[in-house]
Formats: sequence, structure tokens, C-alpha cells
Amino acid sequence: MTDAPSYGFDTLQIHAGARPDPATGARQTPIYQTTSYVFRDADHAAALFNLQEVGYIYSRLTNPTVAVLQERLATLEGGVGAVCCSSGHAAQILALFPLMAPGCNVVASTRLYGGTVTQFSQTIKRFGWSATFVDTDDLDAVRDAIDENTRAVFCESIANPGGYVTDIRALADVTDAAGVPLIVDNTTATPYLCNPIAQGAALVVHSTTKYLTGNGTVTGGAVIDSGNFDWSASDKFPSLSAPEPAYHGLKFHETFGSLAFTFHGIAIGLRDLGMTMNPQAAHYTLMGIETLSLRMQRHCDNAIKVASWLEQDDRVDYVTYAGLPSSPYYERALACYPKGTSGLFTFAVKGGYEACIKLVDALDIFSHVANLGDTRSLIIHSASTTHRQLTPEQQEAAGAGPNVVRISIGIEDPDDLIADLDQALTKACG
Ligand SMILES: *Cc1c(COP(=O)(O)O)cnc(C)c1O
Repeated sequence: MTDAPSYGFDTLQIHAGARPDPATGARQTPIYQTTSYVFRDADHAAALFNLQEVGYIYSRLTNPTVAVLQERLATLEGGVGAVCCSSGHAAQILALFPLMAPGCNVVASTRLYGGTVTQFSQTIKRFGWSATFVDTDDLDAVRDAIDENTRAVFCESIANPGGYVTDIRALADVTDAAGVPLIVDNTTATPYLCNPIAQGAALVVHSTTKYLTGNGTVTGGAVIDSGNFDWSASDKFPSLSAPEPAYHGLKFHETFGSLAFTFHGIAIGLRDLGMTMNPQAAHYTLMGIETLSLRMQRHCDNAIKVASWLEQDDRVDYVTYAGLPSSPYYERALACYPKGTSGLFTFAVKGGYEACIKLVDALDIFSHVANLGDTRSLIIHSASTTHRQLTPEQQEAAGAGPNVVRISIGIEDPDDLIADLDQALTKACG
């Protein structure tokens, strides 16, 4: 399909980036199961390695199936380019890598996927990086947390595990004034419910493992570049603005303009860190994205029905779904996420830790798994699993206290989901 930004979302989720295979006419994007690509001649090879010509060299860097997914994600998110990688966590490292250096920090929301809190508070220290966690609803706190060594601000659009919604526009005003990029993890919202770039984000990251693929088959990640951030406005981002020693002194921003971050992500990020997406995974994710809008609408419709039922049940203390009028995030959700707030939320069970454990074991339709964004409904007790490595204070701040379970509402019949929760709550709470 030719670039046609006037097409609607439902058209683009099927066609963007794809065209009939030039060799065979195959209508569906083939899985290019190859590690390498034959150079036309030695000059062609040299031009590719010099980044003077764009083409395929080796599948650690680029692959035609993965390239279709990259173009589709860039189109759906309204970016200029995207780099896919092996998982959502890989995407986070790939996003930070060109920006950070030893001694630099990222200012991150306290409301994040548990694994991200661990990655940011522990593992990135090995690189000499650090994270400062703040409540991103408190814009003054974000402003105060940004110092001369801050290279990015990181948040989730619809945040794990509580389904709280972030006002990206308000946060982008703060990062714009500070001259640092805003990175938004758009995994839970997907581009169907939220376009962070349209609201001022510089970069978007995804765990494509979740709603984008949509049926729990493959792990993957992506970084989408808005192309809007001026990497040369300060001397804070020398990997992009100054001669890059890891690519014989190439100046990425000067050479590639708005595509600097995307080229850097492939030519240095994937080349040297090697967290590549394989073409099979790209295939499954492309299949998933074809039905993204249909699934997301059903996830949202089911979630509001289940959340409303849980909220009126005596055995339930509270429900965090931002789509409920009782939520403190309801007004913001209507303004910033008008199509809905996805299928993820938490609820607190009156029986506490013990009742939560019994509940997850008593459910029939819901699967007890550490995943979200599946066609199937899923449940997990965060405090004993995904958020187990966090301190009790971090668990509370992340909305994952001991009496709380997280559910990811699937696209099954909502009445069946409610009946399943009803019988399991009876077993759990007596
Ligand atoms: C799952 C998830 C991640 C990590 O992605 P993986 O594909 O599991 O590495 C990051 N952010 C959010 C919001 C997630 O749900």
C-alpha cells in the first residue's frame, strides 16, 4: 500500500507497511526465514555497510517480515520509524540506550509494570544508569526530579496493574520545557486507544507480547520514534548529535535527520545488543494487529461490564478501572481515552491475601498467568508473583498490595466471566 495517512485506523491496521510479495505475488506477508541476504556485488555490500543505501545485510539488524511490522507500528502510532526487538523489556533498554551514559538518569512513574520497576531500580545500575521514581500525576514533583543528568521521562499511558490513565499532554509540557524526551509505554492502551505521539511523546515503547499480538503466542517489543525530538538542541545526546565512535564517527542526527533514532537503534542498538525480533514472531504479531481495533473495543466493552459488576459486590472492597464513574481517573479517561481504557484493572478482595490466593485457584475460565492482553481472560495475584521482588511500599505505590488481584479481561462472553468470578468469590470468601 502506498503511504496514505488519510486511511482510517481499521484500514491501516491491515495494510500499512505490507504489499504483495514482489517475487511471488503472495498476498500475505511471507515469513522471510533467512539470516542473510546476497549482495549484488562488492560495491553494493560496501554501500549497505556505510548506511549509504538502505537494504538487507543480516537478520540481527533487519529482516523483510520484521520490516513490515516496523512500518505498520510506525504508521499506527504516527511515528517516522520503528525498531522491533525480542521483548518489551528489550524495547525499554533499546529506547534508553542511545540517550543514556554512565551517571545519567531516567525519571520514571511509580505506576509501572512490576518488571519495569525492577529493571529500572536494579538492573540498569549495572550500566551506571539510574532511575528516579515519581508520581507522574504530580507535575511539580516531575519537574523537581529532572536534573542536569536526566535524559528521559518514562511512563505508561494506561498503567499497570491498576489501569490508571496518564495525562500525556500535561507531562509532555514538562518534558518539553526541560528539553528531555518523554517515553511512553503504550502496551496496555495500544495505538487504538491512545496515540502518545499526538499528545507530545518523543518515543513510544511496546511489549508486542500483549494486546498487539493479542493471543499469547510470542514475545516481542518495539520502539517507535516520533521524529519530533531535536537531539542537537543541547549537548545531552552525543550518540545522536556528535560523531558516534561505534559507527566510525557518523553523526546520526546530521545524516538521517528525523530518522536518526531509528537508524541508531538498528545500526548500533540491534547490532551490538542483539535483542532482535525473529521473523516468526513478527508474523504472529502482524496477524494479531489485523484485528486490533475489533479486539480492543471488545476488551473495553467487557471490562466495563465486569468492573461494574465487581464494584457492586459485597465481597469486593474496591475496583480500580478508570472507566468506572467512581474512579478518580474517570474524567481524565473520558477526555484523554474516549474509546475506552483497555481490559486491565485490579480489585481488592475483602478477605485479603488468603482470599486472593483461593480466588485465583477457584476460577475456571480465567487463567492464572503472568501475562495480559490475551483473547482469554487472565488473573494474577501481583503481590505474590509479578510484584514479589518489590518492597511493600513499592507494591502499594504500584497499586499491587497483598489484598489486590489484577485481571486482564478477554473477549469471551462477559456474562460467563461474571458467573465465573461469582462462583470463585463464593469459594474464596466463604
Ligand atoms: C509485559 C510488559 C512489559 C514487558 O514486556 P515483555 O514483552 O514481557 O518483555 C513492559 N511494559 C508493560 C506495560 C507490560 O505489560
